Amino acid sequence: MKKLVLMFLLFAGLLYSDEGMYPISEIHKLNLKAKGLKIDVKDLYNPNGISLIDAIVNVGGCTGSFVSNDGLILTNHHCAFGAVQAASSKDHDYVTDGFLARTRGEEIVARGLTVRITESYRDVSKEVLSAIADTMDLAGRARAIDRKMKEIVAEAEKKNPGKRAEVSEMFAGKTYVLFLYTNLRDVRLVYVPPRSVGEFGGENDNWVWPRHTGDFSFVRVYSAPDGSPADYSPNNVPFKPKRFLKVNPAGVDDGDFVFILGYPGRTFRHNTSHYLAYEEQYRMPYIANLYEWQMAVMEQFGEKDRGVAIKHDARIKSLANVMKNYRGKLKGMERLKLLVQKQEDEKGLQIFINADPTRRVVYGNVLEEIGKVYQEMTGRVESELILNNLRQSSILLNAAYVISEAAGERRKPDLERIAPYMDRNFNTTKQNLRSALANYYEPTDKTFLNELLLQAAKLPEDQRIPAVDAILKSGDAERDIDQFIERLFSGTTLADADVVMAALDESAEDIGRMNDPFIEFARALAPTFRQLRETTQRRDGALSRLSALLVDVKAQYLKTNFIPDANRTLRLTFGYIRGYSPADATYHNPITTLRGVIEKTTGVEPFITPQKIIDLHKAKDFGRFKSTKLNDVAVALLYNTDTTGGNSGSPVINGRGELIGVNFDRPFEATINDYAWSESYSRSIAVDIRYVLWVTQKFAGATWLLDEMGVK
Ligand code: ASP
Repeated sequence: MKKLVLMFLLFAGLLYSDEGMYPISEIHKLNLKAKGLKIDVKDLYNPNGISLIDAIVNVGGCTGSFVSNDGLILTNHHCAFGAVQAASSKDHDYVTDGFLARTRGEEIVARGLTVRITESYRDVSKEVLSAIADTMDLAGRARAIDRKMKEIVAEAEKKNPGKRAEVSEMFAGKTYVLFLYTNLRDVRLVYVPPRSVGEFGGENDNWVWPRHTGDFSFVRVYSAPDGSPADYSPNNVPFKPKRFLKVNPAGVDDGDFVFILGYPGRTFRHNTSHYLAYEEQYRMPYIANLYEWQMAVMEQFGEKDRGVAIKHDARIKSLANVMKNYRGKLKGMERLKLLVQKQEDEKGLQIFINADPTRRVVYGNVLEEIGKVYQEMTGRVESELILNNLRQSSILLNAAYVISEAAGERRKPDLERIAPYMDRNFNTTKQNLRSALANYYEPTDKTFLNELLLQAAKLPEDQRIPAVDAILKSGDAERDIDQFIERLFSGTTLADADVVMAALDESAEDIGRMNDPFIEFARALAPTFRQLRETTQRRDGALSRLSALLVDVKAQYLKTNFIPDANRTLRLTFGYIRGYSPADATYHNPITTLRGVIEKTTGVEPFITPQKIIDLHKAKDFGRFKSTKLNDVAVALLYNTDTTGGNSGSPVINGRGELIGVNFDRPFEATINDYAWSESYSRSIAVDIRYVLWVTQKFAGATWLLDEMGVK
């Protein structure tokens, strides 16, 4: 079907391909039975009863699924990685060696991970949009929408004690849905394979097919004895999910129907050519270069000291992931001439608009107005890129900024605060800071801050940052910045997480009395950041109004309804196990095997394989997980579903509703998927359940986990 719709769209002259990330409210329209679904659609999704949907969770921004009645969750190795790192030290290097709890008592806290279950949803577009009036200016409009969403959330949480509410924007300025979630906070590590399995191939193989990575982990979520969400306590009990997925150890074959339920993060298919141009020319190259440099710095500092390396592991991994994704997108945009294509599409749309006088009045200058917003952004691109990356580059500067911002925000009425300082979020804000500080390493922080200040020192006259100019006194920027940084780091106490935690509850006056040079610098930067926030708010207000109009007229033009871009809400996508042809005369099969792991193994990072796996393979000890067709164990799968970041850890499910894989990636060519879907290059990658089970049983010896999942 995707193919047909795509062809139709191409004929219509547009590459707004068939977005296949269907909100759950759309599932009943899909005729999945005709596509290969063997179970009743009601078993998949039933708003009035229990269905497969109830087994799907959001775990720390990724997806996971319940695979037992005792709260056992299967997700990706890379999704649990931060928690594994937080539990690791030089003496207990779980990152390198993996972690296995032999009893429930041995399971350890997965710091930073929470589990979120979607309970219900309701369209609240009318309520949200009732907050705006034609008389409002653009920033006022954005503020009014934001405020209304907060009010709806507050009311929903009051009515549903213990639940988390969130209003998600499905189409900017047009459609809003209120979701109710259960948030479970006591998550523990159960089995994490060693890095040589869970991250086999490392960054070399990331965003690559063929793939041989055992990217899976088991965690367990606990609740209070009455089943309600609770912080960690030894008295908590394994959470009883409404539904868990049956694991099918028989696996799948080329051509089989599969579907995925998960929480895709963000896609941008409804954005215009102006957005694509900004991304392609400015933001993505800047970020890719910055991250590449930051990774090199961290790797160098960690080279001789595993303790230092552990602090950097998760950060390097996430920067590397984004960096390579952006490089893939940049390459794909160039190869597909995506920008030109989108511009052509928009020309066609403009002709359609102009052809009708009424349409022309309503929509005539929508594209032009959107263009103006991006023109303004482009005019300030250098300083905005620096400002948008300054805080996350220095852990201490960020801590200082949060402290001083909290002092101002926490005084305001709750609903008027910026989200991180609202009562419902403030604990998480604190915990995030604490986790960041646990990985603080002074030489890294200094080096990063130095680089960004040097960049700021070179900004053109009309984009200067006053707080940075105030440092540059001698005419020698490098020396001034060096001296300034020495003063910051030698005079601060913010490397101590307890100091930061205490300061977060202080008033502005008390914070001033701390005389901390980082806090002073954060305060000096505050007006610039405030201005940027207001500018962004004004632009968002404009884009929200214009995007709503754009989607309307596009729907008229294409005579179709659109699926909203991914926005971290629960979605379904379906497809088939399918190979692909990334280049001329090249075809890749959709299933890899253990033989490939052995072939890739060089004994040099990141292609090291544990000896036990090599021995098991040599002995052909595949147990019940052997595929007779492959005469081996299947390791990874490729299929043509529509996924993005956040779908990591999603269960890949067969037509009978059984779990046969865990989604974790896409090939390099498919990173462009976030901008446009295509049958020829959009593919997703999973670790095959047979490999998950084989590693867990034969390599880790954790047969009890298979028993728990009912795999006999
Ligand atoms: N590996 C990806 C991620 O980082 C998953 C994807 O984007 O397909 O989330």
